[in-house]
Amino acid sequence: MYAHNDEQLRELYRELILDHARNPRHFGKLADATHTAEGINPLCGDKLKLYLRIVDDQVDDMRFEGSGCAISVASASLLGDTITGLTLRDAERWFETITGRLTGRSQSSADGGDDLGKLGALEGVKEFPSRVKCATLAWHALHAALHTQTETASTE
Ligand code: ZN
Repeated sequence: MYAHNDEQLRELYRELILDHARNPRHFGKLADATHTAEGINPLCGDKLKLYLRIVDDQVDDMRFEGSGCAISVASASLLGDTITGLTLRDAERWFETITGRLTGRSQSSADGGDDLGKLGALEGVKEFPSRVKCATLAWHALHAALHTQTETASTE
């Protein structure tokens, strides 16, 4: 029964990734961005630029543009859904959580870690180590953007 549920969950996550890859949310340029960063994953050829408008210690808006594989685009789209409206501190915390979880530094929800909500869909890439950098690219760009106004983040 649990195996069946796991399979249903995996299928749901797969659909969520494909949906965000085909119809990315928050896609485009943000003309009045206060912070930007570029992310490059040479292993896969993923490239993106992330724009943040930060107002009063809060992420007022986020956009991204670029091109990459389905996982990198879906991850950036989900990132936008997650951090828009958050304080800088909470956005930074998501960077720590996602990169920790995808690289296996912190516990999965199955082992008692935090529930990631729909970002749990990204956790599936742990089974494919070469794709982890695709999934974390946008989050590294977020981290870079939060700390400086022009920075190139690389997964290398
Ligand atoms: Zn990729």
